[in-house]
Amino acid sequence: MSAPNKSYDPVEVEALKPEEIERMRDEALAAFAAADSLEALAHAKSAHTSGTSPLSLANREIGALPPQAKAEAGKRVGQARAAVGRALATRQTELEAERDARVLVEEAVDVTLPHDRVPAGARHPLTTLSERIEDVFVAMGYEVAEGPQAEAEWFNFDALNIGPDHPARGEHDTFFVQDADGGADSGVVLRTHTSPVQIRSLIDREPPVYVICPGRVYRTDELDATHTPVFHQVELLAVDEGLTMADLKGTLDHMVQALFGEGMKTRLRPNFFPFTEPSAEMDMVCYVCRGESVGNPDRPCRTCSSEGWIELGGCGMVNPKVLTACGVDPSRYSGFAFGFGIERMLMFRHNVEDMRDMVEGDVRFTRPFGMEI
Ligand SMILES: [Zn+2]
Repeated sequence: MSAPNKSYDPVEVEALKPEEIERMRDEALAAFAAADSLEALAHAKSAHTSGTSPLSLANREIGALPPQAKAEAGKRVGQARAAVGRALATRQTELEAERDARVLVEEAVDVTLPHDRVPAGARHPLTTLSERIEDVFVAMGYEVAEGPQAEAEWFNFDALNIGPDHPARGEHDTFFVQDADGGADSGVVLRTHTSPVQIRSLIDREPPVYVICPGRVYRTDELDATHTPVFHQVELLAVDEGLTMADLKGTLDHMVQALFGEGMKTRLRPNFFPFTEPSAEMDMVCYVCRGESVGNPDRPCRTCSSEGWIELGGCGMVNPKVLTACGVDPSRYSGFAFGFGIERMLMFRHNVEDMRDMVEGDVRFTRPFGMEI
């Protein structure tokens, strides 16, 4: 027999006792407060708000209660669950704010950090000095001319008035290129100077010709502090009507002023070269002491050895035989030429004492010259 259980006492349902509901609520609040990360909070949320959490289980018990008790228990459980929900939302907001603040610090980009840890390459000072010299002459209307480094003997010697028996031919310490059969008579050499480019320029062009010829040249020298089998020259050629030594001297003076500063000047000393007549050695005033070290033991100059002048290279008026060899009429045209070594200029311009530093490719040598491009 059954009848409504009017004497049912909700207190008898253990899970719905007020102190039990409070304990469940407080446990949930304590668990949320103790969660120190969003993951820990997610675990606490699952434990205290899911369908199997104590409060959810208690909520299910309410249905079995008589109406009066149902309302009271429902109110208690509802309030407890609402408190748990608010505490969860509050803690969730706090932890998210903490995470955002931490991410802002941890993932901040320090814009002052160096961005270029992989060093950029730099061009060799020989290249940049060569181009600086070219710029001086390009600004004066000269054209940069280039030619092959494996050159016909005729261009390297004969056309320059250095015949087969000319002593200068032996002095050039030449690399001869073998022909395909291994014989030495290929007629090709590694050019010993950039002068063959002048010859090619004269043959290719109608006068007036104004060219500057920078490039790599070869001699059979051993590599040591003052010699290298591969080095660089700059040669200059001007062929026009009415050119004289005065034009040559003025051009040289302009060049050293452009490269070494105002007030620089050159001097010419008689010399001999097969391809120029007359020929001269050219010196420039020592750009360090400007000649003031001469006869002045109190102010010695390392750069010029207290001589006041620095030897720069060779120059002269183009030999009429060279003009003729290139099909230029020497009765109408005259020309001047000069040349010098770029390594040598780099040595005294920057106090480089050992030529090997220029060819070894050590960045500790090139870095002080800067990242000039
Ligand atoms: Zn000096």
